Amino acid sequence: LESQLLHSRKMDALGQITGGIAHDFNNLLAAVLGGLEMLELRLLMAPEQSKIFNITRRAAEQGAALVARLLTFARKQKLEPASIDLTRFSTAVTQLLEHTLGGLVMLDWQMDEGIWYPYVDAGQLELALVNLAINARDAMPEGGTIRVKGRNAHGDHASLADGDYVVLAVSDSGVGISPEDLERVTEPFFTTKAQGKGTGLGLSMVYGFARQSGGTVHIESRLSQGTTVEIWLPRATELPQVAVTSSASAISQST
Ligand code: ADP
Repeated sequence: LESQLLHSRKMDALGQITGGIAHDFNNLLAAVLGGLEMLELRLLMAPEQSKIFNITRRAAEQGAALVARLLTFARKQKLEPASIDLTRFSTAVTQLLEHTLGGLVMLDWQMDEGIWYPYVDAGQLELALVNLAINARDAMPEGGTIRVKGRNAHGDHASLADGDYVVLAVSDSGVGISPEDLERVTEPFFTTKAQGKGTGLGLSMVYGFARQSGGTVHIESRLSQGTTVEIWLPRATELPQVAVTSSASAISQST
């Protein structure tokens, strides 16, 4: 419990600091990019100069993209948990991820029959799955399949209250995580990715979200075999809200 508290305090503090810095830094980068654009229009550059110019601009653009990600992380979002229909949800997330993942990686969903509804914030769950899928893709540079399996479970986890949970397990057959790194991967800013590629905030966000929702995260990994990240989420006691198109479909959904 103490380590959870520490994690959430750290995240709060980091959120405030990064939010402030990211905002100011963003304005500076906007000025740099704006200046570069004006220069490009006014200067006639030799090929070598033009190359340097483009590299410089690309670096500034990458900086801006990084800052945008930091801002998303820092924005303290209020969780609005609801009962979620995972079948519908998976369709939406697949569409979202198709663009992000690129052609080498496949996404395969397997929901157990009769899977319960988790009670979580849908937007945050989506973000968590996007983060996990990006990590899985990065772990498989040659491509491969990311499997998302859903199952019902009881809280037999050491850190969980007794009760019903919905588990989403995201697996890849990628590079894996060493035992030393495994202990640190949920720490904010822990990353092994090249500079500019990783923020070290993905798993930290996923972990924070799961704990805040009353669940947890469990990671298993073997070097050069692959990694499975399980998100344990509390089971909803009510049925999902149905977007009512007709009363007949609303009724058939709730029976
Ligand atoms: P980032 O992806 O920005 O590095 P994360 O917090 O999401 O930040 O991940 C932290 C680190 O954990 C990664 O840099 C990587 O070393 C490791 N990691 C996370 N997911 C995986 C995975 N599926 N396979 C291998 N390593 C992983």
